[in-house]
Amino acid sequence: MGKRGHTAIDFISALNDGVMQIVHWIMVFAPIGIFGLVAGRIGRAGGFTQFLPELLAVGKYSFTVIFGLAIHAVIALPIILFLVGKRNPLTYVKGMGAALLNAFSTASSSATLPLTMEGTEKKNGISNRTSSFVLPLGATINMDGTALYEAVAAMFIAQVYGIDLGPVEQVVIFLTATVAAIGAAGIPEAGLVTMMIVLKAVGLPIEGIGLILTIDWFLDRCRTTVNVWGDSVGAGVIETLESEVAPEQGADSP
Ligand code: ASP
Repeated sequence: MGKRGHTAIDFISALNDGVMQIVHWIMVFAPIGIFGLVAGRIGRAGGFTQFLPELLAVGKYSFTVIFGLAIHAVIALPIILFLVGKRNPLTYVKGMGAALLNAFSTASSSATLPLTMEGTEKKNGISNRTSSFVLPLGATINMDGTALYEAVAAMFIAQVYGIDLGPVEQVVIFLTATVAAIGAAGIPEAGLVTMMIVLKAVGLPIEGIGLILTIDWFLDRCRTTVNVWGDSVGAGVIETLESEVAPEQGADSP
């Protein structure tokens, strides 16, 4: 639209700046809010010594999330890549090294997207046709790490509050965690926000999120790395399937 489009561009970038500023303010106040939530929890438990078991529980919860993510990233995804994508997982992960490190340090799949594309295309030989379709879509909707984390977090909150979850509730958690992960944006802590959907679906207290806030900065990095790894594996699998279906179209891939 040439010059006429500038008004729309200016409007959208001003809106973006505004939202970024609001997020910045929230991040400035977040430590005070988290402090308040944790202090409230300690008070309700009747002091720090009584709170200690809860603290230990948060440690076990973190271990469970990390262990689950590790099984998914080191066993499940490489097997899919090897069997369906017909690629060597070790070589593939080496090519994705920069993207995975960036995902860990930024906790954002969207911010990592350029490096994910570079890793799949330049290092792993995936065609631009596949990566430019699969990866941007994957960075927003394919969040395996987030889905896994949301399910574990919901179960943890239920256990801390002493709420018994039957098989039906557990299936609801599994389904809503998947949907909530799809809804989460590829930005830091997005999964924490969409987790309200999971908690609401099975009637768990939303304040329970306060319990896991303190450790979420770290778990977010771990799950984002798995999210990006999952997207990269997806690109490898689609590339192989596509070239099998339409070899002439996948000709631009090496
Ligand atoms: N930070 C995650 C990502 O960008 C989303 C989340 O689980 O919070 O992939």
